[in-house]
Amino acid sequence: MIAIVYHEDYNKYDLGLSHPLIGDKPRQTMDFFKQKNIIKNVKVFEASKASEKDLLRVHNPRFLERVKKLSQTGGMLAPDTPAPIGIYEIACLVTGGTRIGGEKLFQGFKCVVNPLAGFHHASSSFSSGFCFFNDVAVVIEYLRKKYHLERFLIIDLDVHHANGTQEIYYDDPSVLNISFHQDGRTLYPGTGSLEEIGRYNGEGYTVNLPLPPGTGDKSYLKAFDTIIPPIIYQFNPQIIIYQSGVDTHHSDPLASLLLTYQTYYHLGWRIMELSKKTCNKLLVLFGGGYNSLASVRSYYNILCGILKKSDYIKEKNVFDYEVEKVDNEVALLKKILSQHWMF
Ligand SMILES: [Zn+2]
Repeated sequence: MIAIVYHEDYNKYDLGLSHPLIGDKPRQTMDFFKQKNIIKNVKVFEASKASEKDLLRVHNPRFLERVKKLSQTGGMLAPDTPAPIGIYEIACLVTGGTRIGGEKLFQGFKCVVNPLAGFHHASSSFSSGFCFFNDVAVVIEYLRKKYHLERFLIIDLDVHHANGTQEIYYDDPSVLNISFHQDGRTLYPGTGSLEEIGRYNGEGYTVNLPLPPGTGDKSYLKAFDTIIPPIIYQFNPQIIIYQSGVDTHHSDPLASLLLTYQTYYHLGWRIMELSKKTCNKLLVLFGGGYNSLASVRSYYNILCGILKKSDYIKEKNVFDYEVEKVDNEVALLKKILSQHWMF
């Protein structure tokens, strides 16, 4: 059984008319799912706000106060992240949606989706990249406390590196954080090189694959199949959190990877299979995507992959410019990780 956690107020997470984060994308996503009749296969729950206690398991109290204050006056959290009036409540609502999604996985659902989530640039005491609270870490800490879990897996396929999540868990071997992203030398936030693999007890539990601009479907899926399944089976997670940002699409205005609609279907399908073969608990956070029309279609294809629904959206193939470079990066990553994982 699959569920979506949603709230109409998600659409108030709007950072302004000239900002790439388009406010009504969650509504557009839900409308498209209804139009495509996929929603009948899914149970919809209403999101409610994360509590201050939930946030404080991850965030520093001074950071929380800062967001609260900005939310009363309006202002800027970071140069790329305006803080409109009332944003604290809305950020609590989307974070609460992720927390409820995690909870539902322990009440019999095999997969739960939060369509506005995956705020991976927020660390414990600062944030940028359109993020306020790190809902990925909030749900992990909530589930750790409530169900005494010991092995959490994050697969973050957003085009941007998951720097906030990485910072929170860099020393922590209980959270395996795998991020595929466009090379930081060519895109915000600039981090996520192959050599960043965690530290102290956490060494080997951060995995970064930076991809060159121009990377297309074939090399992306090949890299996924080479790196991700072997590590997952060895780690044996108790929950999989999939940050499924679709700003990797070739039409996205913020980045330069060249994935097509059909790849999102294959990724959704593959990750659902990995979940079935391990913990059977998959939390999907839809993540970034700044061409709304393309994003909504890509999210739909992820859901089709998860549900194994064959009428997913297809488009013309796009040339994959960097096959050799990606192969070399993958070979290097395997070498760097060879002390920790077998391939
Ligand atoms: Zn992104």
